[in-house]
Amino acid sequence: MKYISTRDHAAQPRKVTAAEAILKGLCDDGGLFVPDQIPKLTHGDVERLIGMTYPQRAAYVLSLFLPDYDPTLLEGDCHTAYAHERFPGGAAPLYPIEDGFYSLELWHGPTCAFKDMALQLMPRLLSAALKMTGEGETAYILVATSGDTGKAALEGYRDVDGVKIAVFYPNDGVSPMQKRQMCTQEGNNTYVCAVRGNFDDAQTGVKKIFADAALAKKAHEHGFFFSSANSINWGRLVPQIVYYVSAYCDLIVRGAIRSGDEINVCVPTGNFGNIFAAYLAREMGIPIAHLVCASNRNNVLTDFIATGTYDRTRTFHKTMSPSMDILISSNLERLLYMLGGAKITAELMDSLARTGSYTLPAEFLAELREIFSGYYCTEEETAAAIRDTYENAHYLIDPHTAVGLGAVRKYRAETGDNRVMVLASTASPYKFAADVCRSIGVNADDLDGESLLTALSHATGTEIPAPLAATLHKPVRFTDVIDPAEMADVPFSH
Ligand SMILES: *Cc1c(COP(=O)(O)O)cnc(C)c1O
Repeated sequence: MKYISTRDHAAQPRKVTAAEAILKGLCDDGGLFVPDQIPKLTHGDVERLIGMTYPQRAAYVLSLFLPDYDPTLLEGDCHTAYAHERFPGGAAPLYPIEDGFYSLELWHGPTCAFKDMALQLMPRLLSAALKMTGEGETAYILVATSGDTGKAALEGYRDVDGVKIAVFYPNDGVSPMQKRQMCTQEGNNTYVCAVRGNFDDAQTGVKKIFADAALAKKAHEHGFFFSSANSINWGRLVPQIVYYVSAYCDLIVRGAIRSGDEINVCVPTGNFGNIFAAYLAREMGIPIAHLVCASNRNNVLTDFIATGTYDRTRTFHKTMSPSMDILISSNLERLLYMLGGAKITAELMDSLARTGSYTLPAEFLAELREIFSGYYCTEEETAAAIRDTYENAHYLIDPHTAVGLGAVRKYRAETGDNRVMVLASTASPYKFAADVCRSIGVNADDLDGESLLTALSHATGTEIPAPLAATLHKPVRFTDVIDPAEMADVPFSH
């Protein structure tokens, strides 16, 4: 198996190995790397996976997508990345919210968001790729973050040999806890700064650096090359496929389904990475009937799935689910490629860059809608989902997961489809404690930092995650605020 660009429609597209795809992050033509075929999981494979631990399942799925990696090393890396001390609550446990409705908790890692599932492993994949390709230069990782990726990448890459990392976050676009987590980051190869603008401004700035040949040359002269940790990098996506496969196995183990039964999956979505991973699990043969794409008020994806027109020229809203405050969902490009091939994808992406919108041809839209439904929640609906779930199921969820939960309710009410539903729970409620308190009626308006977390803990009888408690006592290391135009200077000055 090799990797190709989503935009390369030559008769003989340029192919690279998985290691090269992970090193480069983005293709030279601006497209994203995709595998030239999707490996299949047979019934027998699933039976075998059922008997495995999470790290073993991860190594199994990863080796199918990364054939150039040594399977023994992959297994070792997966065991380290998903070890109990890093994921004390389990890597991806299922929690039954109610009969036939499960929360897939992806936030038991070191930064309390699902990004850890990929970013605890990806630095190991990058290190292995550096060795395999004999790359002697430093990999300079540039990350644009809507909040959670930045911290998870910093934790994953800190003090990794042969790597430096700079993280850009939108000034005032992240939660106080997210900001605190990033600005107190340790490690001798890390740098963090705020960018004036929103997430899309930061992401566009990073993409520009990646696409700039003159900057690449300058970097080479300085002894490094640029690489990405955003979900545009294939190394981010492949570990995310694992937990959907694993959840299916766990549902069988629990007796919630029998092998072969269909389930549905709902994913609170921003950049379309996590839900695309679920789609890939489906393409591999996991019986996922339907994928529910949940958005907040920035409902560009809801509209796209309903109409086939993707139009980012709209008002940007700040919400209590900031990791989903995104108007350009980069990974959608990979789905367009899977549906329509490289030629259409290149045309649509060109239209997006020139006009801010594109329309998917009707035949592909029909295919997309057989698999995906889109729903969105307002801020009030999100708060209500947090409150109802807490009151009725005694289960505390964060605002992103709540957007997903609201979408599940709408999907089920509208379609009557009551197949077993797995909801990706993407962050700990303690990362967004102020909004969670407000939603469940805990008076915490004047509180912040430790007192806020303590108030939530006392009111709900739940525990403050240890990594967040630790963050409160660390000194702030990073305070820089820059304009988007200054982003390209960062790698040469930090
Ligand atoms: C990143 C993130 C999302 C969105 O995931 P995508 O892969 O960008 O669609 C949702 N919730 C939380 C908490 C996140 O950190």
